[in-house]
Amino acid sequence: MQGLLIKSTGSWYQVQTPDGQRIDCRIKGKFRMQGITTTNPVAVGDVVEFEMEPDQESGIITKLHQRKNYIIRKAINLSKQAQIIAANLDQALLVVTLASPRTSLGFIDRFLVTAEAYDIPARLIFNKVDLFSDEGLEILADLKAVYEKIGYPCFEVSALEGTNMSTVQELLKDKVTLFSGHSGVGKSSLINALLPNLDLRTHMVSEWSDKGMHTTTFAEMFELPQGGFIIDTPGIRELGVIDIEKNELSHFFPEMRSRLNQCRFNNCRHINEPGCAVLEALEEGDIELSRYESYLSIYHGNDTRA
Ligand code: GDP
Ligand code: ZN
Repeated sequence: MQGLLIKSTGSWYQVQTPDGQRIDCRIKGKFRMQGITTTNPVAVGDVVEFEMEPDQESGIITKLHQRKNYIIRKAINLSKQAQIIAANLDQALLVVTLASPRTSLGFIDRFLVTAEAYDIPARLIFNKVDLFSDEGLEILADLKAVYEKIGYPCFEVSALEGTNMSTVQELLKDKVTLFSGHSGVGKSSLINALLPNLDLRTHMVSEWSDKGMHTTTFAEMFELPQGGFIIDTPGIRELGVIDIEKNELSHFFPEMRSRLNQCRFNNCRHINEPGCAVLEALEEGDIELSRYESYLSIYHGNDTRA
């Protein structure tokens, strides 16, 4: 049988069948998977094959289907193995705000670079617009223009007042969407508004505990009333950090990527080289200074975390 893995505790997995049944599944014995070595062979978002145990109560996952993308978290344990958090994402949303606690542009840009590296389309949700003055709304409009110009759709919402929530619902329809955001930006308020029947904070200690199973949820997918899923990753504020080679970094800035073959040197770092098309575009205002600063900051390995 085929199903979508919608919840993972590391030892137990909940798999949803196409007709909406939810089966608790395990993995038995050695389960080999292609590509990278990870501590967990399957993750939420994976499409898997499973067989029912003889007692018909639970299932055993037997096969993993090819993934279109996945996000990882680097393990802190000694084996240095990565942990897959989620797979097959259609889009990654970063919830940000210019109100308190204001999200830094460095944080936004690092998120976008990571999403590019993972090959996941990214969108920005500017929350708490109800708190903005006219001046604040102007700054917001300028910022949205910067990001939309380079291909990242932006949305302004108020989770509190319900402003533009129907636009967000439309954005999520029939898609698997990862939600990220700094603590305090209103990510839970937003998710709770989208999933009225779920309280995220109380949900983490869910119905699984009374079966005596592990309750530490790595990640979980929540089905939306209009179709589609939201992935929330408890405890992960940032999209996983992955190693990006310095000489690859400019490929993950769309406004640089389109200019790279115009640099005089093909190993141009876009820092002080003569004939650099990126620096030229920066000078002409075609590349935003804050974006370029983020490039330099990531390039030099500075931690701009706010
Ligand atoms: P999280 O840490 O990102 O999950 O943020 P929460 O959803 O817990 O929200 C943090 C705080 O911001 C709470 O006090 C919310 O009531 C408040 N908040 C969330 N969304 C909005 C909004 O759209 N407008 C205003 N004014 N406050 C909001
Ligand atoms: Zn260059």
